[in-house]
Amino acid sequence: MSGKSQAPAAVGIDLGTTYSCVAVWQQNRVEIIPNDQGNRITPSCVALNETERLIGDAAKNLAAVNPTNTVFDAKRLIGRTFSDPLVQKDLRLWPFKVVSHDNKPMIVVTYKGQERQFAAEQISSMVLFKMKEIAEAFLGSTVKKAVITVPAYFNDSQRRATRDAGIIAGLHVLRIIVEPTAAAIAYGLDKMSRSSSKKNVLVFDLGGGTFDVSLLTMVKRVFEVKSTAGNTHLGGEDFDNRLVDHFVEELKRKHKRDISDNPRSLRRLRTACERAKRNLSFTAHTTIGIDCLCDGFDFHSTITRAKFDELNLDLFEECIVHVDKCLKDAGMDKKSIHEVVLVGGSTRIPKVQQLLEDFFDGKELCKSIHPDEAIAYGAAVQAAILTGQGNHEIRDLILSDVTPLSLGVNVNDDIMSVIVPRNTTIPTKKEKGYTTIKDGQTSVHFSVYEGERPRASDNILLGKFHLSGITPAPRGVAKITDCFEIDADGILKVTSKDRASGNKNGITISHVKSLLSKKEIERMLKESERFRIEDEELRNKFAAKNSLEHYVYRTRAAFMTTKLGLKLPAADAEKIQDGIKSAMEWLDEHQAAEAHVFEKKTKELKSVWDPIIGKSSRVIRRKKWWSIF
Ligand code: ADP
Ligand code: MG
Repeated sequence: MSGKSQAPAAVGIDLGTTYSCVAVWQQNRVEIIPNDQGNRITPSCVALNETERLIGDAAKNLAAVNPTNTVFDAKRLIGRTFSDPLVQKDLRLWPFKVVSHDNKPMIVVTYKGQERQFAAEQISSMVLFKMKEIAEAFLGSTVKKAVITVPAYFNDSQRRATRDAGIIAGLHVLRIIVEPTAAAIAYGLDKMSRSSSKKNVLVFDLGGGTFDVSLLTMVKRVFEVKSTAGNTHLGGEDFDNRLVDHFVEELKRKHKRDISDNPRSLRRLRTACERAKRNLSFTAHTTIGIDCLCDGFDFHSTITRAKFDELNLDLFEECIVHVDKCLKDAGMDKKSIHEVVLVGGSTRIPKVQQLLEDFFDGKELCKSIHPDEAIAYGAAVQAAILTGQGNHEIRDLILSDVTPLSLGVNVNDDIMSVIVPRNTTIPTKKEKGYTTIKDGQTSVHFSVYEGERPRASDNILLGKFHLSGITPAPRGVAKITDCFEIDADGILKVTSKDRASGNKNGITISHVKSLLSKKEIERMLKESERFRIEDEELRNKFAAKNSLEHYVYRTRAAFMTTKLGLKLPAADAEKIQDGIKSAMEWLDEHQAAEAHVFEKKTKELKSVWDPIIGKSSRVIRRKKWWSIF
């Protein structure tokens, strides 16, 4: 299945809040790439400890043991400020520490005995690096290019920060595309050969941390996103949290135990709750059991699907409100929707499916796309298109995205003047004229905002700039044109020009505080490279240690099971047996030695033992035991 590809592969990566998935276009089809554990999705989780850095399943499996140094949910922080109310809300639920550095959230972990701070981009870059490694192991070649997906509601700064994470991971990010669009590509590929008529598709993506609903129209091979809605803070983890709260209360009420300040117990309870939630999608009731949850107390309880639904009903219903909003934004009636596509692990919850089905008057939902893989699938197709791979069917696929929020500038004392309305298809270029408000005014300050609120300062400030050298004129005479240009990646360039003087100024979005400077990216790239080298050194060390242990134990086994010792001259047999004993003692004392030390020791032993064993090669060959070396 795997093998060396001809052209350097470009992969599609679904960088999920809770799980990530990588896929590649190979032999005219998409291949979802399994990780080293054989899983097709990998937890977006990073753990740092005394000796090493773990990413994915290994990190998640150790979360309960090392809760304060196991980082997940980095996607909730990426591109956000520390003071963002959503960040503040999340802080209370995370077992790891987050501090503010110039209002940028920094994750605090202890690595190799030292306290270290990481930006969300760095943590996400580690997850992306892991996905790159997974793909490289599968393809047998280096992977440099990738299409990465983000939720539809990600603003410019979040998209840029995700792109930065890709760069830090050593990837050339071909394009950032929104998740529902990627899912639609996967879906469209399935259907387009069968139908050429126009179709309206609603993509309902309820994952671990985000909820996106998008309305797309599909005509033959052309997709267009008509509208998007959703909540960046709604998903499976919220359902888990409701269950956690429920059991924390039950523990207080029935067992007089309070674990609300115990990160390790909370983490273990959360893991059990997630499992229970998954079970409840298939059974009507389930049990949860956690031995030694706190102070030696074994916690056992049960929960029904009805109770789970009741605990989360308002959240499920909120999803439907967003669906309604999405339809209204597109000016469409629910009857005009041809297909409702389910994406994301949480769409397996029966109550969610039922509410959605009811909303669409009993319409059958489309579940043909594997909910956990559809996004990576679409991203891989997009990567193939952008690198000129793929068959003729996908090469003609044209894809358009929309701006998730309106973009504009502040005018007349804090009024939001929208230049690019939300849900505008991108790439786009829009201009709007402005003038001066004072006689003889020669300069203007512009602040660029993103959002829907009429007061500019209630929206998200993307950056500021100053246009000077305006030809003096009475108020209202000067003609200033603001141009907003958004490229296919959703990245915004703003320029402002005074028509009379021809003076121009623009904004470099890197002025936005939460984004990384070039210098910071370089520093993180170096750090990432250091991590890579350290990981490799650790792997080499384990391999060298393993090889030495293997040699010593196999020799010992040969002495014990094949009676090799009896076939050798007594002095030689004694020499090897003493050597085995002292080598085992040496191994006990040098567990943390470097790779070259283990290699030296192995060489040393071989130089003594091999000639002796070689002497009795006649015996050995007859016994065939040498094959174990
Ligand atoms: P994301 O893209 O946000 O990382 P995914 O689409 O991979 O998320 O979905 C992960 C979420 O789906 C997790 O919260 C997980 O608990 C939930 N999930 C997975 N399987 C089930 C199931 N059988 N029932 C309910 N929720 C599930
Ligand atoms: Mg997802």
